[in-house]
Amino acid sequence: MVKYWQVVQRFGCQVLELNFLNEFGIKHGLVIKTQGRDIDEAGVYRSLSGRHKTVVTSQVHGCDILRVDTMFDKFYPERVEADGLMTDRSDVVLTIHTADCLPVYLASSDRRCRALVHAGWKGTADKFAAKAVDVFCSEYDLNPRELVAAIGPGIEADCYQVGSEVAERLQPEYIRPDANGRWLLDLRSANRDQLLAAGMKPCNIYVSDFCTKCHPGMFHSYRREGKLKGKMIAFMEAPDD
Ligand SMILES: [Zn+2]
Repeated sequence: MVKYWQVVQRFGCQVLELNFLNEFGIKHGLVIKTQGRDIDEAGVYRSLSGRHKTVVTSQVHGCDILRVDTMFDKFYPERVEADGLMTDRSDVVLTIHTADCLPVYLASSDRRCRALVHAGWKGTADKFAAKAVDVFCSEYDLNPRELVAAIGPGIEADCYQVGSEVAERLQPEYIRPDANGRWLLDLRSANRDQLLAAGMKPCNIYVSDFCTKCHPGMFHSYRREGKLKGKMIAFMEAPDD
């Protein structure tokens, strides 16, 4: 049986790795709960910072992807307000945090450039993933056909009931009615299609089928737990070589 993911121990935490990205040598992870315990976000950021400069975001459900270049050193270690980060620096770790929203990992196939994007319903409605691919490619002179992407664990459509005010912001193909007169939103398909529309090849996109709401032992879920329990931390590092 093909194993699509693995859980490894890193800096005292359990980290989910997607083997699709590992096969390309793309260093990444998603910090998940360890033995069901809530994630200590500050502790994770401290551990990551012990190795490299760690960029931490204040996310606002917007569509800004920030280029982490040498200017960033002036402000480090302030949090940056952005829902996406990109870099070609070998001495920084990019992070975003999610708890039902999707983490989208992007990298050039030569692993030189990498980006992380946070896509909730607002970002999805505003086509953030597609915009992020455009900006990433233009900033680093990349061809979208040569990018690799993985959409990490997030809430699945069957668990993601939304009201009509949300449903009407999304394209109808990603919305279906449920039995209670509300709507189910398929964030994964919407984001995958945005990556394709931005020029990526289907074989270069992996979509995790882990649902954050259905796996309380592994993931935080805003829908299941509320806002204050915690978040998973997605990160991307530079390759070793
Ligand atoms: Zn679910």
